[in-house]
Amino acid sequence: MSLKVYMDGELVPAEDAKVSVWDHCFLYGDGVFEGIRAYNGRVWKLDEHIDRLYYSARAIMLDIPMSKDEMKDAVLNTLRANDLRESYIRLVISRGKGDLGIDVQNCERPSVIIIAAPLKLYPQELYETGLEVVTCATRRIPAEAFDPSIKSCNYLNNVLAKIEVLRQGLKEGIMLNHAGMVAECTADNIFAVQGRKVMTPTTTCGALRGITRGEVLAIAGDLGYEPVESSLAVYDLYSADECFLSGTGAELISVVKIDGRVVGDGKPGPITTRLLAEFRRRTTTQGVPIYVEAPARAGG
Ligand code: PMP
Repeated sequence: MSLKVYMDGELVPAEDAKVSVWDHCFLYGDGVFEGIRAYNGRVWKLDEHIDRLYYSARAIMLDIPMSKDEMKDAVLNTLRANDLRESYIRLVISRGKGDLGIDVQNCERPSVIIIAAPLKLYPQELYETGLEVVTCATRRIPAEAFDPSIKSCNYLNNVLAKIEVLRQGLKEGIMLNHAGMVAECTADNIFAVQGRKVMTPTTTCGALRGITRGEVLAIAGDLGYEPVESSLAVYDLYSADECFLSGTGAELISVVKIDGRVVGDGKPGPITTRLLAEFRRRTTTQGVPIYVEAPARAGG
């Protein structure tokens, strides 16, 4: 069975899910997106992802032509139509079809696309051994030019950094901001653990308001560690006891080497391991159910 993709209110077979060459998301990267995950028949942090999508859209003055509740229903319906209980869900809102100029007034109507696909994850082995990362030469775009909190479809800045990483045979890299402080990775947030402090760069340093990042900070507090959002230098990562990345796809994954320097004792650390275990417990038991459970029948 081919996957069905939600396109402006209709579920179409994946091979027919095509966008126009006049679409401004294609021509100019003029759109916003979200990446959401379903675990065990439940959509993790659906409200938070939908809120972030609408904030991103508002920041670029794009009116999403449906309410948040309609959007949530569309996500759940797309999952049901594809019979997916474990999934990566991509929402894309494009400015829509226009002409060859950048004038948004020539765009007919924003377009809403929802793709629910089976998961493609980091290999399990990498959670046991940890990742090696490098600092990228490509810097994060300064907020004065375009705020990195906006999850826009224009990801060239990250794509360029990812090319550097891939050329070194690695999977992720650290992006610094224009002032040389740590911002985040090409598609993940970053954390450093020092003593009981679980630290991550502030969003004003150029980090996306990661949904996983937010949950990691909450879990760190709940488990009695000290969650800290601050400005971090590369030195803070080099000298950390533990370092890890966070993201919807990656969950939490340890970093054991940065720019050739071994982090901590070169293995996934105990605090990262505890945070990941609690994160996984929450993702599989909380979240919005895709299928409404049938009420238990009374009597025999
Ligand atoms: N930073 C960037 C640049 C991202 O694209 C993402 C999402 N993959 C993240 C951080 C992590 O955010 P989240 O936890 O919401 O997936």
